[in-house]
Amino acid sequence: MRGRGFRDTGTLSADFASRPVRTTVDMQSQRPPLLEVKRNLELKTTLVKSSRLPLSGSRLKRGPDQMEDALEPAKKRTRGMGAVTKVDTSHPRGPLLSTVSQTQGHIAAQKGPKKTGPRGCSTVGTVLRNQKPTPAAPAQKPGASTAPVVIGKKPGKRPAWDLKGQLCDLNEELKRYREKTQTLDRENQGLREQLREVQEQATTLGTERDTLEGELASVRTQAEQGQQKLGTLSTRVSELEECLGTKERLLQELQEERLQLQEERSTLSTQLEELERRFQASEAALSSSQAEVVCLREKTAAQVTLLAEQGDRLHGLEMERRRLHNQLQELKGNIRVFCRVRPVLAGESTPSPGFLVFPPGPAGPSDPPTRLSLSRSDDRRSTLTGAPAPTTRHDFSFDRVFPPGSKQEEVFEEISMLVQSALDGYPVCIFAYGQTGSGKTFTMEGGPRGDPQLEGLIPRAMRHLFSVAQEMSGQGWTYSFVASYVEIYNETVRDLLATGTRKGQGGECEIRRAGPGSEELTVTNARYVPVSCEKEVEALLHLAHQNRAVARTAQNERSSRSHSVFQLQISGEHAARGLQCGAPLNLVDLAGSERLDPGLALGPGERDRLRETQAINSSLSTLGLVIMALSNKESHVPYRNSKLTYLLQNSLGGSAKMLMFVNISPLEENVSESLNSLRFASKSLVDSITVPPGDQAEPAFVALISEIQMVAPNGKTCDL
Ligand code: ADP
Ligand code: MG
Repeated sequence: MRGRGFRDTGTLSADFASRPVRTTVDMQSQRPPLLEVKRNLELKTTLVKSSRLPLSGSRLKRGPDQMEDALEPAKKRTRGMGAVTKVDTSHPRGPLLSTVSQTQGHIAAQKGPKKTGPRGCSTVGTVLRNQKPTPAAPAQKPGASTAPVVIGKKPGKRPAWDLKGQLCDLNEELKRYREKTQTLDRENQGLREQLREVQEQATTLGTERDTLEGELASVRTQAEQGQQKLGTLSTRVSELEECLGTKERLLQELQEERLQLQEERSTLSTQLEELERRFQASEAALSSSQAEVVCLREKTAAQVTLLAEQGDRLHGLEMERRRLHNQLQELKGNIRVFCRVRPVLAGESTPSPGFLVFPPGPAGPSDPPTRLSLSRSDDRRSTLTGAPAPTTRHDFSFDRVFPPGSKQEEVFEEISMLVQSALDGYPVCIFAYGQTGSGKTFTMEGGPRGDPQLEGLIPRAMRHLFSVAQEMSGQGWTYSFVASYVEIYNETVRDLLATGTRKGQGGECEIRRAGPGSEELTVTNARYVPVSCEKEVEALLHLAHQNRAVARTAQNERSSRSHSVFQLQISGEHAARGLQCGAPLNLVDLAGSERLDPGLALGPGERDRLRETQAINSSLSTLGLVIMALSNKESHVPYRNSKLTYLLQNSLGGSAKMLMFVNISPLEENVSESLNSLRFASKSLVDSITVPPGDQAEPAFVALISEIQMVAPNGKTCDL
């Protein structure tokens, strides 16, 4: 393994690392022989140099002093002889020899164990062996005679007179000394040669030593480098060992993971087998299902065709329904007049019986009433004749008459068909006409808030519209609604939905065409609010009520002196068929139709009231004239004569549907105003004939029947 390889290297390195230490130790241990040799050589050289004399331990058994002492008698006797004087006695031999012997002995003792060694050593050893160690001569006192030694060699003592014999002896002695000197010179010469050899050897050894020291330094450098390298390698080895540990752990983890994966694989294989079995089963089921799908597709295609046919048929039926509905409405009359009599309120005097009579319909009591008889006693005639006042009965016939007990719900039922017409694309206008307090606002908006039974036409119509629009979305129709609410007071238009700083002030608005060449009219500065549910409409009605309350003053109940026009622009689209339809639904609470009492004194307030009344009467009579002109199909219709008719011109005439509620008071004291209201309706809309009691009124309805056209987006028209 790789790690082991590194370990082996480490071991080797460690050995290598330990070696230099040992090497150093060896070198040191080996060094002594070299150094010793060198030292010995140096020492010997010094000694030899210093001795200068061929001294032999065996031959020099006496010190210089002894020699001198021994020679003394001869000196004395042979004074002046050169041979004798040549003996150099300047160097004290005794101590030197003793020192040499001691040193040599010491070195010999140190070198003793070293039997083998470098070449130099053996040479030195040889040299040393040649110099036989001699025991150090005991120190002798100066002056101590050595004569016995010499004398011992002399022949017996000659008598004093035997001078010749003595001279012979001396000559003998001199001859011996000369021989001895020659011997010593030869020895000295040999020693000198040995010394030279030794010096040469020392030089060689020095060179070798230098070489070895160089080698040693190089080996040391190498050792240091090796040490550094070893350190680096050790660090690297520890890093690699750490890395190896990490890798081994990783490997272990991977092996564990592998085991897990193998387990998972076996589980998955089992699952796969199971799935394959299921898949095969599913494939079998699928193939049978595919056959079924093919069959079902065929059926679906047939049903889609059928559905398309039915859709076409449904659309055709819807168009037919619209056509028939419109036809029905036209048969009923594009202009219809309903009369509603409010109940007597608490605190009001009950009218005399017969004052108001509601004859049953042609089909009997169960038939909704369409006629109204009002009896009025002619007080002037009774005053003149003194007879009981004769009663004049005024009979009126309407499309529908609602007696005082009629509920809001019943009233709405009659007009819900018109709401459907508005959704079908026919402009619709519903007016409430009558004197102040006759129940116009009650009819249009309803009674006090919170009681759903008392809800008026506007909230009910809105609910009905949203509900029908929702139903028609199933047939592909999409509807959107935009509401506006304005009042026309003294021929000025004000926005009842104004908010913020304009709230209550209403800001002056103008009626303008939406664009050049456009038939559509719009009120400038008025808010047009998109609505999609009754709650939003309710909020708008509440806002309008608040705006009216702010504008109200004690002297002037403006709401009753102005026309309130709630407009809802309906837009329908059938995207799939490229059809569009749109029409406004107008719900108008007209200003009180009462007239000023001509007997009233005209103060400043009354003058304003007169002006108001004149404006109201003018606009109401213009409305009557417009309706008459439309019913008579006159070429000129005086829409521009009042703001009200100008604003409503697109919702009057043509295929538009109009419904007029004539609200009258049940009170006898209001009979004049009631008659006026009834006559207005009769004059404008219905031929009212005052007939004797019991006679049938013969109304002549003015129907405005015209073609209704739905405009498709591509500009084509499709007749319904
Ligand atoms: P107008 O708007 O014509 O001036 P209102 O609608 O304000 O008259 O009605 C006057 C009063 O008569 C109100 O208090 C109203 O609640 C009440 N009223 C009107 N018509 C009815 C009705 N059909 N049933 C009950 N109360 C009615
Ligand atoms: Mg009112």
